[in-house]
Amino acid sequence: MSYEAKPHLEEVLALYERIREFGEAVRLRYDYGPLSESYHCYIKDDIDTVLNAFSGAFEVPPEGLRDDMLSNKVDFMLLRNAEEVPSREMFSLLYILGKPFFRSMKDSFNVDDIYWQEGLCPVCGATPSLSAIEKDAERRYYCTFCETIGRYKRIGCTYCHSEDAPETDIIYVENEEGVRVDACKSCMSYVKTVQLDVPTGLSVEETDLLSLPLDIVAQGKGFIRRSPNPAGIVRFD
Ligand SMILES: [Zn+2]
Ligand SMILES: [Zn+2]
Repeated sequence: MSYEAKPHLEEVLALYERIREFGEAVRLRYDYGPLSESYHCYIKDDIDTVLNAFSGAFEVPPEGLRDDMLSNKVDFMLLRNAEEVPSREMFSLLYILGKPFFRSMKDSFNVDDIYWQEGLCPVCGATPSLSAIEKDAERRYYCTFCETIGRYKRIGCTYCHSEDAPETDIIYVENEEGVRVDACKSCMSYVKTVQLDVPTGLSVEETDLLSLPLDIVAQGKGFIRRSPNPAGIVRFD
């Protein structure tokens, strides 16, 4: 699997590149790790920095959000439950704007590769939608919000914790080598699983984006992605 083999994903990949560009352009003044208990958005000094970087990367300023950020109406922690944010466009926009916030939390706590209690990201508390099974047969989960990686049970659902094998639906899609869907029939959540013994030369995030046909098939069967892909997209219908 490679970029070249997936011309239909060009638009999503271009968006992802811009999100990365934006994230790299932002230099926050505050450390949101310790602050995240009391602030679910940027504090005043960082708001213009973030909005300017956004305008630079996307060529359009996000309208009306400055006041909502200043008055604390924007709450990035709500993004962890996609149903809390009414429109998909708003979800994607807030996901992008919130990226440096979540990254700041990760940099502050720096807890890669610990065991994820309850199957949740130990930094930001999000439910993962992506995992990888490595050569040592360990299963590691990846948080799209803050980019923390950690270990959790190999078998079972991170959302409802069901470990019933008959409740798990494993979905493979033709021409999508090295990635599968682990779907839970108890709570209808799914996680994509990258098999790292199938070498692709792609990062975990690129693999998530490029295996979008698996999301479409899983969601077509009624399964729910609990956190967005790295381009800020949760639903693909
Ligand atoms: Zn996280
Ligand atoms: Zn479940």
